[in-house]
Amino acid sequence: MTYYNDLLKLCAFDESEILSQKDRLERTFQILGLGPADFEKAEARVNESFDIELMGIRKVLGIWLKELFDAVLAREEGKKIIYFGYPPFQYTGSVIKTAAGSKNDFYVGCPEIVICQTLGQIFDKLIPLLEAGETAGLPPGHAMCSLLQIKLGAIEKGFIPVPDLSIATSYFCDMGPKAEELMQNRYGYPVEYVDGSLDSPWGAWPDYDRETVYYLGGQVNRLFGTLKDKFGLEINEKVWEKAGLVCGKLYMSINELGKYLTADPVPLSVADTELILGIPTACTGIAVEEGPEAIRILAEEVGKRVEKGTGVVPKGSPRVVILLQSLSDTAVNHLIEEAGMAVPLTMVMLPPVRPPEPYPYPTLGEKRAEQAMFTGAYHSTYGWIKRNIDSLKLVDLDGVIYSYPFSCRPIVCTSKLTKLEIEKETGLPTLLLELDIYDKRNYSIASLRTRLEAFAEMLKAKKAQVNKEKAK
Ligand code: SF4
Repeated sequence: MTYYNDLLKLCAFDESEILSQKDRLERTFQILGLGPADFEKAEARVNESFDIELMGIRKVLGIWLKELFDAVLAREEGKKIIYFGYPPFQYTGSVIKTAAGSKNDFYVGCPEIVICQTLGQIFDKLIPLLEAGETAGLPPGHAMCSLLQIKLGAIEKGFIPVPDLSIATSYFCDMGPKAEELMQNRYGYPVEYVDGSLDSPWGAWPDYDRETVYYLGGQVNRLFGTLKDKFGLEINEKVWEKAGLVCGKLYMSINELGKYLTADPVPLSVADTELILGIPTACTGIAVEEGPEAIRILAEEVGKRVEKGTGVVPKGSPRVVILLQSLSDTAVNHLIEEAGMAVPLTMVMLPPVRPPEPYPYPTLGEKRAEQAMFTGAYHSTYGWIKRNIDSLKLVDLDGVIYSYPFSCRPIVCTSKLTKLEIEKETGLPTLLLELDIYDKRNYSIASLRTRLEAFAEMLKAKKAQVNKEKAK
């Protein structure tokens, strides 16, 4: 038996899979510098941090590891490599993968997220990557996005290959494209900058200025042109629709799971749901193929807990929605429940609001850009806040924990206004919880715990008061 067998089996690999993949696995671990001590530590961490009595969770952990192998080995296995930034522009990655057909000669993904889920969540080995990113051009102490430090560090250390094309997130974030520019110069790879405008006036959403759609749509169309010229990939309505069906299976299983998560008591920890929600934003390969079945199994297991009334916090605990979970530190993800609050959903799981009638734009890029406007995030600060408020009004909650990464420029800039507007419009107490979801050196667990416990006490007192009044 090898030093990695136990961890892989814990992550639902079967013996034959381990044997048939032996060379790939060992080559990946060699590139990443993972040895017996790392696997021993990871096994203990997985046992302690995740709900591994659920086969669905074990399978999802395994899927993330398979995504890691594919990302690390992409160049050696002769793949053409396209990276997209985080957050991706809708499901462009899956569209590219679909256009590439069934030959499987492309790696398309967001490898920095795959690394967070594996070297972060499972192995707790992100610090050397962060340090490598800091040395290579994104220095510490400048509030540089730690996710981008991880990507830069991973390329610098040879953990992931230099891509054939990278798609920068200029439609949402300025840090992504600036860091891509640095990497483009340092490693000489081409970058497609997909720019947008978040400057729509306050009060405009869901309306928008058509110029913003013509601009973003034109940028998306240019990306399609680049994909055709460089790789011969044809992106059209049919391909987009086909990719939608592929991703649809994943979203259907996530929705099935989501129905159970809103039960009281909430049956699954937010540390476990984090593993699920990252899949559609980072992966286009094995996770999209195997993910729907793994999540379906999980939904079935969680459904049984709901029938039995089993929860991760007591029934009747205050219910909060959070913005983001940590993608690297499982201890942070358990803090909210340890403080006595239940998390039935995160902001990405909020129910969608009904979009207005679409305008008949002639090109695919413009149609997608218009869709992006309705989701709020690519529209403006107002669009982001208002869209979330409208969705918050549709769910039963006691509070909001706006957990945001202090080095993520677009999120930080909207945080204070978001709190004020949510409290004004919904009456839900909102805690601004500043942290770093990729770099655990940037916060103290003890101080986060203190803030969360105080917030939980306040919500419990408020809930008790409301219940008392109802009983009168
Ligand atoms: S700054 Fe925020 S939006 Fe930009 S790449 Fe980092 S995490 Fe993503």
